[in-house]
Amino acid sequence: MKKFKKALVLLLSALMVFSIIGCGKTQKSGKGAFKPGTYTGEGEGIHGKIQVEVTVDENKITAVKVLKHDETPGVSDLALKKIPEDIVKYQSIGVDTIAGATVSSKGVLEAVKKALEKAGANIKDLEKKPEKDKASLKKIEKNVDVVVIGGGGSGLAAAVTAHQNGAKVLVLEKMPKVGGNTIISGAAYNAVDPKRQAKAGVEDSVDKHYTQTYEGGDKVAKPEMVRTFVENAYPGIEWLESMGMQFKDDIFTVLGALWPRSHKPVKPLGTGYIETYMNYIEKNKADIEIMVNSKATELIVENGKVVGVKAEGADDEIVAKASKGVVMATGGFAANVEMRNKYNKMWSDLTNIKTTNHVGPTGDGIFMAEKAGANLVGMEHIQLLPMGDPKTGSLSGNIEQGVENRIFVNKDGNRFVDEGARRDVMTKALFEQKDASMWVILDKHSYPTGDTKNNFNESIDELVKAGRAYKADTLEDLAKQIGANPDNLKNAVAEFNKSVETKAKDKFGRTLYKDKIDTAPFYAGARVPTAHHTMGGIEINPSAQVLDKNGKVIRGLYAAGETTGGIHGSNRLGGNALADTVVFGRIAGKSAAEGK
Ligand code: ADP
Repeated sequence: MKKFKKALVLLLSALMVFSIIGCGKTQKSGKGAFKPGTYTGEGEGIHGKIQVEVTVDENKITAVKVLKHDETPGVSDLALKKIPEDIVKYQSIGVDTIAGATVSSKGVLEAVKKALEKAGANIKDLEKKPEKDKASLKKIEKNVDVVVIGGGGSGLAAAVTAHQNGAKVLVLEKMPKVGGNTIISGAAYNAVDPKRQAKAGVEDSVDKHYTQTYEGGDKVAKPEMVRTFVENAYPGIEWLESMGMQFKDDIFTVLGALWPRSHKPVKPLGTGYIETYMNYIEKNKADIEIMVNSKATELIVENGKVVGVKAEGADDEIVAKASKGVVMATGGFAANVEMRNKYNKMWSDLTNIKTTNHVGPTGDGIFMAEKAGANLVGMEHIQLLPMGDPKTGSLSGNIEQGVENRIFVNKDGNRFVDEGARRDVMTKALFEQKDASMWVILDKHSYPTGDTKNNFNESIDELVKAGRAYKADTLEDLAKQIGANPDNLKNAVAEFNKSVETKAKDKFGRTLYKDKIDTAPFYAGARVPTAHHTMGGIEINPSAQVLDKNGKVIRGLYAAGETTGGIHGSNRLGGNALADTVVFGRIAGKSAAEGK
């Protein structure tokens, strides 16, 4: 019996070896590698199954299509698009996963593997990491004064300023377009602005902006960084205006800004900033080059000085040398779920939280700078907003127009927090509500007409039509539409309206009021927690020079924007991020151009 078993095992092993060799041979010879046809397969994504369809001919994988998935829009888009493309391009399922979307990437790869198994493929061969044909990659060498890594708000501000200070500049942007998070943001910019604030009867001072920023971040920011930030915020507005950017005359309080000093551009979202930079760059294109689809991978360090950067284009290898300096402006890591989870200490779990960010900010600059010796500060400080679209996590669809004229109620129709509080305070309170979900409630004061738009260029009528907001002539009807208790909602609004009259601090601690919620139509919009900003990152000094672990300047390396840490502390005020990109983008650009 034993002998028989042994013989069977040997026979089976021989058969297996034969079939592997057999498959390997046919695959290598390129004949009969696959059973031609179209096959489906499923893999496990972050929110369930990912289903793909794979088409093969005798020798090649000719197409990979994602048929079904529930992955997070924005975060997983790149994985769902690029992995299938790369599989076809490299004829391999050993292609690189996408940073920040590893689970979705692996889900696609697993699904394709299953489909290819049905096609009789030799999986082992296909799993080999494809060798990029190095010889066929175009080698591009660039020699400029300043290389800027990242074409978001701070990178472009740095590029423009470096040029204004005499430098020849190259910007490397890994996405197919520039703009980063700035272009998709609500675009509010905090600055003490005597002219505009006086008109609205708002008293303010740079010291107050300092105190609110520093204390609003629990005093863990570096005081000299906060000081540099608040002092240069208004000059940043003047600088943008000098290049043609227009801001509205009205000052408002954006969510979590704590004070009415938020400026709103005339152009929708953050397009005004990016257009302003791009107009300047277009006019000076002889000296400022932007390379998109170019992902920086490594800093080039010689004798302790950063002298350039290596990058990967779609079909090129780029070596960009900077005679004066390299500016790191790669944004934060809110779009990188693994990195969020690695550093998170503030929240219970960030795996299933969506993000307001585009897919680019995956912490690349933080890795690169750390490898070159940079110190990282405040990495555990991750900002969530209570303002995400329930489906996508994005800020679009947010119906609030400013802090003063809206309240938040939970699913029962009750208020639960000071709606003018810090962002972390509001989000923590939201997590304690049923399904961590709330309604923003406001009235005609925020939308005088159905055509009135929110900060994301969406009219309230459009939002109602799309089922993203609800509209009613009475609070009772609104409550019915959103499934809340009508009495609770009516009481919540009545109580709020009393406080608007007295302007007294209410039981939640709210102090920011303007109009009552008393004029139809009334509106409601659903919101959930969403990952927004990572306050930690590369440590810099007030000249935007990057510091090492001993507090010493790393020569040739500068950083600005969300990739840096130490400016906002544990909680960033609403409206301070765009000001940060402009203030430190400008400082980094100038310092780099001077080779400071
Ligand atoms: P900030 O304006 O604060 O710098 P953003 O996230 O708006 O932050 O912009 C960062 C930009 O940097 C994004 O456009 C992003 O795609 C880009 N980026 C991120 N990593 C890299 C990289 N490795 N190489 C080139 N560009 C990058």
